[in-house]
Amino acid sequence: MNDIKDLTPKELEQVLLSWKQESFHARQIFSWIYKKGVTDFDAMSDLPSDLRARLKEGFYILSLNLIKRIESHDGTEKSLFKLKDDNLIEAVIIPAEKRITGCISTQVGCKFACRFCASGKFGFKRNLTSSEMIEEVLYLKNNSQGRKLTHLVFMGIGEPLDNYDFVIKAIRIINSPHTFNIGARRITISTSGVIPAIKKLSGEGLQIELSVSLHAADDKTRSKLMPINKIYPVKDLIAACREYIRKTNRQITFEYVLIKDINSGLQDALKLSKILKVPNCKVNLIPCNAIKELKVQPPEDTEVSSFRDYLLKSDINVTLRRPRGQDIEAACGQLRLRYAKK
Ligand code: SF4
Repeated sequence: MNDIKDLTPKELEQVLLSWKQESFHARQIFSWIYKKGVTDFDAMSDLPSDLRARLKEGFYILSLNLIKRIESHDGTEKSLFKLKDDNLIEAVIIPAEKRITGCISTQVGCKFACRFCASGKFGFKRNLTSSEMIEEVLYLKNNSQGRKLTHLVFMGIGEPLDNYDFVIKAIRIINSPHTFNIGARRITISTSGVIPAIKKLSGEGLQIELSVSLHAADDKTRSKLMPINKIYPVKDLIAACREYIRKTNRQITFEYVLIKDINSGLQDALKLSKILKVPNCKVNLIPCNAIKELKVQPPEDTEVSSFRDYLLKSDINVTLRRPRGQDIEAACGQLRLRYAKK
């Protein structure tokens, strides 16, 4: 049995033709699953009965099992799922005034072990398949309490560009008018800076947003926060980003999580302003969530404002974001971390 959500519309058409069925049924099946939220082939009433029986023999629709769902006072909702192999992943829905953003996981655990992140705590177990990622989106869409899911970020557990092929396939399916029809410009991949994958991504012809976790402007601090920096240091990463912007004509967002006593001083802002003489980029400053297990604390508000003001004075396009869902441990991997310990 295979997960039908691993198939693109074209691939499902091919399956149907090989079964001597009409290819247009593929569009009907996609509509039932992704537009109407139907998860039982028997309920697809406009399909011939022999096709429904064949689909039931060869495919399943759902594979995630919801374990827990918690809501923050700011409306952020986090869901914890058990996969078929009993591993746990998380997906988050983040409502804002004009958008509803789904944040999904791409791997079980993560091998990159960034210091401020709970996801790498127990190491890497496996990549998620395209269908598992798509099911996270399906769940968020079907459980967004009447609100339309408008944006998607690949920013949950895992490094998306370390699961390149499955992530790109998932994006192409999610982007299809036959599924969720979420525009590529509303889909963001967030990476810790896997340079070969950034280069490959620039040739995909996808109009998606790319967000690069920088978090420090010098190799010493960044390597302490993000061990990946020892393989792909700051200078090479910035050069790869410049090249990506040149080739794709798309903007890159640099994420910078402010952590007290680590990377939030004015000397850090100065270094950042020097390396970010990059056209068509912006910086998102995010005071970190306090994570007891990882001993990280956000800086005082005054220090955060001084950091932002320094960048603004240096002509850098900067946005200050507040962490969402602090009361429900919404930083990636925190809920999984709590349950994985039990
Ligand atoms: S921040 Fe991203 S790359 Fe770093 S450990 Fe967490 S999930 Fe992995």
